[in-house]
Amino acid sequence: MNLAKIIDGKAIAANLRQNIIKDVLELKSSKNIIPGLAVILVGDNPASKLYVRNKITACKKVGIKLFEFYPEANVSEVELIKLINSLNENKEIHGILVQLPLPDHINSMNIINAIDPRKDVDGFTATNLGKLVTEQDCFVPCTPQGCLILIKSIIDKLDGLNALVVGRSNIVGKPMLHVLIQNNCTVTLAHSHTKNLPLLCKQADILVVAVGSSNLIKGDWIKPGSTVIDVGINYTADNKITGDVDFKEAAHYAGAISPVPGGAGPMTVTCLLKNTLKSALYSAL
Ligand code: NAD
Repeated sequence: MNLAKIIDGKAIAANLRQNIIKDVLELKSSKNIIPGLAVILVGDNPASKLYVRNKITACKKVGIKLFEFYPEANVSEVELIKLINSLNENKEIHGILVQLPLPDHINSMNIINAIDPRKDVDGFTATNLGKLVTEQDCFVPCTPQGCLILIKSIIDKLDGLNALVVGRSNIVGKPMLHVLIQNNCTVTLAHSHTKNLPLLCKQADILVVAVGSSNLIKGDWIKPGSTVIDVGINYTADNKITGDVDFKEAAHYAGAISPVPGGAGPMTVTCLLKNTLKSALYSAL
C-alpha cells in the first residue's frame, strides 16, 4: 500500500510569507503604512507564551510592527477592556490579538467583543463570526483559513465532497465548518457527544480534527485516499508534540495528511500575518 503524501505546512507557509514580505514593502512605499499588530498576553501560561513568541517572531520577519502588552494574571476585565479601547483608537495598530485562554475570572467573549471588528485579525468577534456564517467579507479565523489552504494544496475542487470536522470550538471547529460549507462541501461536525465517530470518519473525503486528544483518530477509521488535516497539539510525558491523528497508522490509509508539528501550526501564524496585512490595506481605502 502506498503511503500518504505529507502536506508540508511549513513549506506552504514559507512561500506565502515571501509574498507577504513583498506586500508589506509595497504598502510602505505606496501609502506609507506599516502594518501594526498589538498582542496582549495575560499572565504566564507557558504554552501561550510559546505561541505568542512564535507569532511575534513571524511578524517581525515580514515587517509587521509589534505592540506588545503583558498584563498580570490578576488584571480585571475592566482594565483589559480599557487597554483594548485605547488600541482600537490607535491608528498605527491594524490588528489586535488577545491570546487565549484568559484567566478564569475574565469572560473571554466580553474581551474579544471589545475589539473593533475592523481590527479583529483573529476573526473571533461575534461580528466577524456572524459575517463568516452569512458569507460576507470578514477576517476568517486563522486556523480554519490555514487548513483550507492546506486542503486546496491537494484538492482543486471541493464541490460535493464529504467533509468531517471533529471539534466544535468557536476558534477552529465551528468556523472550519462554515469555511467548508462555503467551498460547497457536505459537512458534518462531530464533538464529544457524537456517536460512532469511526463510521463518520470512514465516510469523509476531507477530515479536519481539532480536539486536543493525542492519537484519538485511528488509522483504520480513515477513508482510503482521503485528505486529513490534524490541528491538535498535545504534549507527551517527554515533552514531544503529537497531533490528534495517529499519524503513523493514518499514513497507510489517507491520500494526504498534514503532520504535527509542521502542518496546521505554521499556517495559523501565516494567516494571522495575512489578516493583519489585509486590515492595514483596508485602512488605506
Ligand atoms: P477546544 O479545546 O476548545 O475543544 C475541544 C473540542 O473537541 C470540543 O468541541 C469537544 O466537543 C471536542 N471533543 C472532545 N473530545 C472529543 C472526542 N472524544 N470526540 C470528538 N470530539 C471531541 O478546541 P480548540 O481550541 O479548537 O483546540 C483543539 C486542539 O487544537 C487543541 O489541541 C489545540 O491546542 C489545537 N489548536 C491548534 C492550533 C494550531 O495552530 N495548530 C490552533 C488552535 C487550536
